[in-house]
Amino acid sequence: MRQSQMLINGEQVASLSGKVEVIKNPANQEPVAEVSVGGREDARLALQAAEQAFPVWSETPSQKRAKILHAAADLVRTRAEEIARLLTLEQGKPLKNARMEVLSAADALDYYAEEGKRNFGEWITSSQSRSIVLRQPVGVAALITPWNFPVDLLAWKVGPALAAGCTFVAKPPSAAPLAATEFVRAVNDAGLPPGAANVVHGPGGEVGAELVENPISRKIAFTGETKTGRWIMAHAAGQIKRISLELGGQSPFIVCPDADLEKAAAACAQRAFSNMGQICMSVNRVYVADEVAEEFTEKLVQRTEQLRIGNGMEPDVDLGPMFSEAMREKTREHVADALARGAELLYGGREPEGAAFARGFFFLPTILSGADHSMKVMREETFGPVAPIMQFKKLEEAVFLANDTEYGLAAYVFTSDLKTALYASERLEAGSIGVNVNSVVDMQAPFGGWKQSGLGRELGHHGLEAYLETKHIRLGN
Ligand code: NAD
Repeated sequence: MRQSQMLINGEQVASLSGKVEVIKNPANQEPVAEVSVGGREDARLALQAAEQAFPVWSETPSQKRAKILHAAADLVRTRAEEIARLLTLEQGKPLKNARMEVLSAADALDYYAEEGKRNFGEWITSSQSRSIVLRQPVGVAALITPWNFPVDLLAWKVGPALAAGCTFVAKPPSAAPLAATEFVRAVNDAGLPPGAANVVHGPGGEVGAELVENPISRKIAFTGETKTGRWIMAHAAGQIKRISLELGGQSPFIVCPDADLEKAAAACAQRAFSNMGQICMSVNRVYVADEVAEEFTEKLVQRTEQLRIGNGMEPDVDLGPMFSEAMREKTREHVADALARGAELLYGGREPEGAAFARGFFFLPTILSGADHSMKVMREETFGPVAPIMQFKKLEEAVFLANDTEYGLAAYVFTSDLKTALYASERLEAGSIGVNVNSVVDMQAPFGGWKQSGLGRELGHHGLEAYLETKHIRLGN
C-alpha cells in the first residue's frame, strides 16, 4: 500500500512513535494509503526546523524567492495528475474538480511569487526626522487546514507565507492528508532551503494544539470550523499570536423578481451541491421573491435532476460521496428536522439506490421548500447537499433574513437591476457578495468572513500582509 510520511527539515520521515493509520476512500471504503501519525513531539521538531530555516529564507532576496515559487508552481503542475488522483481517492470529489483544485493551487503560488516582489515600504519626512517603514516576515507560520479543499486552502497560505519570507509547518486534515502532503513536497522540491516547508500529520488536538501553543510559531493561519477557530483564538491569546481564521459559513442566496431565473437556478444548483455542499461558501439558504418562486423552484429541480452522482474516479461524474458518515448523518438529521417543522421535500432527501452506492457515503442533492428560521438547515452549517427555499415579499425582508445568522462569509444576489444589487450588497453582512455570480473567490481580491465566519483575509495583497509585521525606523537629523 502507498505510504505517506511527514516532511521535516527537508526529509520524509515517519512519526517518532511509529504510529500509522489507513486512509480510506469515502466512495467505497477501500484503503488508499497508510499515513504516519505524529504527535506533539513531531510538531516540535518541525517547528524547530522551520525556526532554523527562517534566517536563511527571510534573507533570501524577494526576486529569488519569486523564482523558487514559480518553479514550485511548475512542479505542482507537472505532478498535478498524481496529486489530483490522491485527492479524489481520499476526499471523494470528482477527478475533474480535484484537477481544478490542484491547478488553482499552482496558480496561487505563481500569484504570490509576483505579489512578494511588491512588498514595498514607506519613506516619511517630517520636520525633525525621517522615517522608514518596513514590512518584515512575521516568523514561523503554522498552517492548519480542513478536508474539504485540502490542497487549495493550503496553497492560499503557503504562497503568501513563503513570498513574505516566512517558513512554515503545515498540518493537513487528519483524514485527508495525502494530496496536501504531496503538494508541499513539490513546493519543497523546487529548491527551498531544508526546513522552510514542513508537514506534520496527526490529530488536531495534539499536533494542531502544539503548533498553536508552542512559542516558536508566531502566526497561525487556520481554516476550519468556527468551534475550532474559537479554541485557537483563545489559546493564541496567551502569547498575543498573530492569527487569521477562515471559519464556517451559512451563505444566503437571494433571487429577486427581476432575476434571470435560468441563470440563477443553474448557479444555485452548482453552488449548493458541488463538493456535496461541503464548501464554506456553499449556498445554504435560498430566499426567493413570491412572484418568481414557483418558476425558480421548477428550474432548480430540473438542474438538480441532471447532476450525475457516483465514484469520483469515474468519468463525467458531477457529485461524489460525502466525506464521512458523520457528515452524512448530520445532513440526514438536518433534513429530518426541517421536514418535522413543516418543510416539503422536492428532491432527494435520501441515499441513492443501487449496488454502486452501497459502500460509500452517498446522499442525493436535496431541495426543500417552505423553509423557515426555526429549522436547523436555516440556522446551523449543514455542510451537506441541501438547498432549503424560503419565500419573501420585499427585498428588505430578504436582507434581514439573510443577516439573521452568526455567520458572515459569503452572500449571493441575483437581480438585473443595479440599484437592487447595490442596495442588497451594501446591507448584507458578509465578507464577500456575489452579484449574479456563484463564486466569490478571485485570487486578486480579499476573501474572508464577517462575524463568526472569521478574522483577517486571504488572497490578494491582503493575503500577503497577513504574514508581515510593520517596523518603523526613525532616523534623527
Ligand atoms: P476542523 O475545524 O474540524 O479541522 C480543521 C483543521 O484543524 C484540521 O486539520 C484539524 O485537525 C485541526 N484541528 C482540530 N482541532 C484543533 C485544535 N484544537 N488546535 C489546532 N488545530 C486543530 O474543520 P473541518 O471539519 O476539517 O472542516 C470543515 C469546516 O471548515 C467547516 O466548518 C467549513 O465551513 C470550514 N471551512 C471554512 C473555509 C473558509 O474559508 N472560511 C473554507 C473551508 C472550510
